[in-house]
Amino acid sequence: MYDIIVAGGGVAGVSAAVAAARLGADVVLVERYGFLGGCTTAGLVNPFMTHETLDGKTKLVAGLFDEIKDRLKAYDGIMVNCFDPEVMKIVLLDMVLEANVTVKFHSLINETKDEKVYYEMEIINKSGKEILQAKRIIDTSGDGDVAYSLGADYEQGNKNGKPQAVTLMFDMAGVDLDKTLEYAKENPEEFLFPKWDANTDLEEIKTKAWSLAGFYSIIKDKKKDYKFPGDLLFFISRPENGIVTFNQTHSSVNSAVNIDDIIKAEIECRYQMIEIVHFVKNNIPGFENAYLLRSADHIGIRESRRIMGDYVFSEEDVSYSKKHEDCICRLAYPVDVHASTGEGYSKEEATKSVPIPARDDWYEIPFRSLKISKIKNLLVAGKCISATQGGHGAIRIIPACIATGQAAGTAFGICVRDSIKLENLDTNLLLKELRKNNALV
Ligand SMILES: Cc1cc2nc3c(=O)[nH]c(=O)nc-3n(C[C@H](O)[C@H](O)[C@H](O)COP(=O)(O)OP(=O)(O)OC[C@H]3O[C@@H](n4cnc5c(N)ncnc54)[C@H](O)[C@@H]3O)c2cc1C
Repeated sequence: MYDIIVAGGGVAGVSAAVAAARLGADVVLVERYGFLGGCTTAGLVNPFMTHETLDGKTKLVAGLFDEIKDRLKAYDGIMVNCFDPEVMKIVLLDMVLEANVTVKFHSLINETKDEKVYYEMEIINKSGKEILQAKRIIDTSGDGDVAYSLGADYEQGNKNGKPQAVTLMFDMAGVDLDKTLEYAKENPEEFLFPKWDANTDLEEIKTKAWSLAGFYSIIKDKKKDYKFPGDLLFFISRPENGIVTFNQTHSSVNSAVNIDDIIKAEIECRYQMIEIVHFVKNNIPGFENAYLLRSADHIGIRESRRIMGDYVFSEEDVSYSKKHEDCICRLAYPVDVHASTGEGYSKEEATKSVPIPARDDWYEIPFRSLKISKIKNLLVAGKCISATQGGHGAIRIIPACIATGQAAGTAFGICVRDSIKLENLDTNLLLKELRKNNALV
């Protein structure tokens, strides 16, 4: 019998498991792959999105997020907010092993049953079926698989139930970045961003994280060769020399937990990827000798089940910069919801107005968004917490998933340490413990 099962080893799951184990809980973490990180590794997602106020003056997320960044740095695997996904796998593994978390890799969570004083989770792996028992579960599966299995209410997608389009991320290597960046500097009108000019120091840019979105006239001139979504190309820098990550493929799904939809999207996006590689090699300055380094192991799911908890975080929280007494994460990332239709990045889409906090302010995610009162001893963390589609569009970013994971793990860690029930947990005690561990709450 474990104290806590953490279901899913993305950044939220690792943060939850580590926070709870550091408080003395006996934690098992279940992950379907043989490594940790979820979207950040299997999904090749980069970089860490903004975790400061929009004026850049106030830092909003620290705690385990800062620790992960420091550890990436120690392995030389981070440049500002862009990180090496292979180093991320090592960093997260170090953290769970050092905290004495039991790791069940290559194990798919099947059904979870509520046996009243404990939960029974069936996992399936190469050894067959296995039953894990624990008094508490943190669902960090990204899809809310456990909460769903236990009968939690959930929502998916827009008002028609359709989620944001999915994306197969991929990396290209051998890029002559000097040439690519020089083109961006000389042709700012070709880009949505960045808007560099003659005074831009490219040597300095190369020491920072950057992304390019544009190449308008190349795309227009070569329209017949452009056989993939979007009317601009979008790729992101990486700490490794000559490597960039493409966030470009898009496929429309009816549900991110419908296996036929996911299979279709994996196939569609893989063929889009090959077209993109072909196009950039033939048309984009600096990509002449570049090659496809790797594709993500799993299609990138921006949005899946949103488990309905005690507080449903919404776009109004974002636009009114709402504050909460049980705040477990401060953030200022705008509402970012990709079209469900899968037409990809467009100039028009990127410039539309979205709910956004004031430049010097932030909004707060309450602990109640992680709690579902009708299901005792269950917390959700990461991208499946309780939110509307718009609210989710803001709080799905990596720093927030780490912070909600840390909060869920800390909450249950205190419950184990002090032998108390979740419903009796004093929020002030939780906040005090989070602050002690450098969370900015
Ligand atoms: C295409 C794309 C681009 C994005 N761009 C950015 C960006 O630029 N910056 C940013 O900050 N954020 C970005 N995001 C958002 C961010 O990456 C994710 O929301 C975040 O990483 C989610 O973390 P998580 O731990 O909640 O979930 P996940 O990373 O999805 O982790 C869930 C884990 O649970 C495991 N799992 C799931 N189901 C089961 C099961 N049944 N049994 C066992 N294991 C299971 C999975 O394998 C996975 O490891 C992007 C997301 C996508 C998809």
